[in-house]
Formats: sequence, structure tokens, C-alpha cells
Amino acid sequence: MARAFIGFGGNIGDTRQIITDAIICLAQRRELQILAKSCFYQSAPLQATGGDYINAVIEIETELSPYGLLHVCQAVEQEFGRERPYANAPRTIDLDILSFEGISQEDTKLTLPHPRIIERSFVLLPLLEIAPDFFLPKLGELKAYLPQVADQRIEKLACRNCSCGEKAVSSQSAH
Ligand code: AMP
Repeated sequence: MARAFIGFGGNIGDTRQIITDAIICLAQRRELQILAKSCFYQSAPLQATGGDYINAVIEIETELSPYGLLHVCQAVEQEFGRERPYANAPRTIDLDILSFEGISQEDTKLTLPHPRIIERSFVLLPLLEIAPDFFLPKLGELKAYLPQVADQRIEKLACRNCSCGEKAVSSQSAH
């Protein structure tokens, strides 16, 4: 079984509900188990158009290959109405494989870890929330990259089932 992290983002429609439904859809597949889910975050568009994004990250365990998982992620994007009219267009939902069992590869179809994993507060914050000591062989501890994204606007949203995220957090003070 491999451990992987998937990042979600979107800025069209009720993104929080869409991501929740997409995670339920993934959870119903026998080939993977969801180990952890971050809270939701609201972030400013970065190299993208449209309104604020909603983001979250999950940790999974899977018997799929990396390309098998990519196929599943793309099927979920399709199911929830993802269209790609132009690069970085507003989107109902985007799924990115952030890392897959420490695998390092550069293929335009699947680059691992995700090439922009350390450049985006909307990836780092939810990822570090569920895996605070997350470490990648070539990058080291990911929390070391938080200061570099501290200027990117992001807010942790209150969870429905707990009191975490009631206060907005900055990139450096996330837990
Ligand atoms: P996007 O439009 O941002 O969702 O990019 C999707 C494209 O990126 C697809 O053609 C994927 O094959 C490719 N891709 C490369 N690496 C990854 C990754 N780690 N996770 C998801 N898609 C990836």
C-alpha cells in the first residue's frame, strides 16, 4: 500500500460542498482509503483568474499505481464538471497528486512530488495541518518553506464539526 496526498481547489459554485462530495466519491472506491482530511482554506487566486479559491488536502492509502491514482483523480474532476477552456481558468474542482510514497519523477503527465508543492500556501497549510512533520527526500521538511509563502492571502475556515480554524491564520501561524 502506498501513502499519497491529494490537493483540492476550486472557485466556481459551492466549492466546499463540491470538494466534500468529491472526497465522499473517492472514499467509496475500494482501491483507496482516506486517512486524514484537512479543514477548508480560502485563498486568493494565484496565477489564476476569478474569485477566491477553496482548498483542502487529504491523505490516502492506496493500492493504485501513481498513474492509476491520476486516472481516478481525473475521473472525479470530470464527474464534478471540470472544464478546461484555457490554462488556469476558473474551475469547479481541481485535484492534484501532491506526493506519492516519496516517488520523484518528471513526466508531463505526472510530475511527483507536484512541482509547485512548496510555492503555494494553499497547498502547504492544509498539508501541514494533517502532516505537520511532512518530509520529502529532495525538499526536506515542508514547514521550512512556510516563510516563503507568508505573503499569499489565505484564511483557514471554521470546520463544521470542531472549533479549529475559527480564527483566520496566516501562513506562519498555521497548525
Ligand atoms: P491542471 O489543469 O492544473 O489540473 O493540470 C492537469 C494536467 O497536469 C494533467 O494533464 C496531468 O496529467 C498533469 N499533471 C502533472 N503532474 C500532476 C500531478 N502531480 N497531479 C495532477 N496532475 C498532474
